[in-house]
Amino acid sequence: MEKATDFIGRFSHVPLLIGNQWTGSRGNDTTPVYNPSKGQVIAHTPSGIAEDVDRAVKAANDAFPSWAAVPAPKRADILFHYRELLAEHLEHIAWLIATENGKTIEEARGDIRRGFEVVEFACGIAHLTKGENLGQLAAEIDGLTMREPLGVCVGISPFNFPAMVAMWMFPLAIACGNTFVLKPSEKVPLTALYLADLLVQAGLPAGVFNVVHGGREVVEALCVHPDVAAISFVGSSEIALRVYQLGTSRGKRVQAGGGAKNVHVVMPDADFDSAVRAVVGAAFGCSGQRCMAGSTLMIPNGTDAAFLQQLNAAVDQLVVGDTTGQVDVQMGPVIDGLARDRISDTIQHAVSQGAKPMRDGRRFQDTDGFFLRPTLLDEVSPDMEVFRREVFGPVLSIVHTSTLDESIRLANTLPFGNGATIYTSNGGAARKFAREMKCGMIGVNVGVPAPMAIFPFSGWNQSFYGDLHLQGTEGILFYTRQKVLLSRWDTNYERINGW
Ligand code: NAD
Repeated sequence: MEKATDFIGRFSHVPLLIGNQWTGSRGNDTTPVYNPSKGQVIAHTPSGIAEDVDRAVKAANDAFPSWAAVPAPKRADILFHYRELLAEHLEHIAWLIATENGKTIEEARGDIRRGFEVVEFACGIAHLTKGENLGQLAAEIDGLTMREPLGVCVGISPFNFPAMVAMWMFPLAIACGNTFVLKPSEKVPLTALYLADLLVQAGLPAGVFNVVHGGREVVEALCVHPDVAAISFVGSSEIALRVYQLGTSRGKRVQAGGGAKNVHVVMPDADFDSAVRAVVGAAFGCSGQRCMAGSTLMIPNGTDAAFLQQLNAAVDQLVVGDTTGQVDVQMGPVIDGLARDRISDTIQHAVSQGAKPMRDGRRFQDTDGFFLRPTLLDEVSPDMEVFRREVFGPVLSIVHTSTLDESIRLANTLPFGNGATIYTSNGGAARKFAREMKCGMIGVNVGVPAPMAIFPFSGWNQSFYGDLHLQGTEGILFYTRQKVLLSRWDTNYERINGW
């Protein structure tokens, strides 16, 4: 088994995968891949050009007819093998994620496990794509439905979950009989290559899964390519909308997850110990770089002082450091220097607008890594920019409200719609929150209500563009189209045939 360090050495000039062959980009430019804990460049991703896209889509298109004809249980056999390989290589992949993304090893394991669960779900593809039927729907006529693959599907993923997000997409797409072109984030291409290498080892035929790299040029070339049938995108809202518009205006299916701003409401009757643990995990896990990050805390009257004291003490205990060195680290760096500076500027701007820093994480000396410590911004109000915009870093805004009603009303003014959580011991308050919040994933005493593989990842508003979400049975519906078959067979065949 190849160690992650050797893998980085082998792929420091990041290749494309086309037709099960590693190959170079036809473009000349590259972007650096960092180890964010050390601030060091570990690889170079090709910026990619439209010609790379043409080669990958051609390989996927050529492979489609024969892959679509493979019986579903045989496709599942390859996924079962892939599942075994993923389990065997889990620690190597986790180390790779910690190295190129900066997550802690435990967070990196979680990143793979959530993707792993999608592979397990996809192993049931024969059952998942079974149709419906009605015999004798009219005299001598039977009706049935079948689900068929679409063709070449594309996946475009963000930097923050190098394994999980790509795995929301390709295991389901290829299980359904489609072929696939993945365009991972240029900031974390190595995990995608490791996942691709294991697919080849699992016996996936050439051309069924391909990888290209790059930014805007490559993404737009994928979105408008005439041989691409469907696009799955996950990233920031502005680009999600652009991808959705480009793809759908050309008749393609698009599902596009965007950014978020997730509100947590701690009621006075909540179990403060467990609420503090959940809020800290949701706000500072993965250094706040999660689309389900609990980035805004609303505390109605009655919760205020005691809860904030406990929260501050818990944040004080968080160990921030190099996720590829120190073993006891609980929070790693952010992805790069640009992100660190953007987040620092956001904190500065919030303070200039009147927010009160209970903790200011901007000062982290003696390191070349892209570190920030956790920041708690108290007295954030709805007119501040930090209230409305996604920060995507370890910053928790605290908003004081009078009641649950006011908290829900303010939260519903946000343009996003991923997740929201209430902490309470009152069923009525929980039920009201679940019914009135205008977002797609609700937690009751659950810090990060991100659904597992059997459920769809259900963003609303600017957090999702499209109809069918990623994962779960919606994912299967997205990657297949339905055919209805009506057959008339006269059971009087002996008379008809003159027997
Ligand atoms: P991003 O939007 O910068 O990049 C996402 C993908 O788009 C990458 O593959 C990138 O190469 C590509 N891209 C970048 N600029 C582009 C452009 N101008 N035109 C076309 N493509 C372009 O996002 P990111 O910084 O990698 O990830 C963070 C964002 O992703 C956050 O907003 C986060 O909330 C969101 N996210 C959403 C979900 C979800 O399920 N809704 C899950 C994870 C992350």
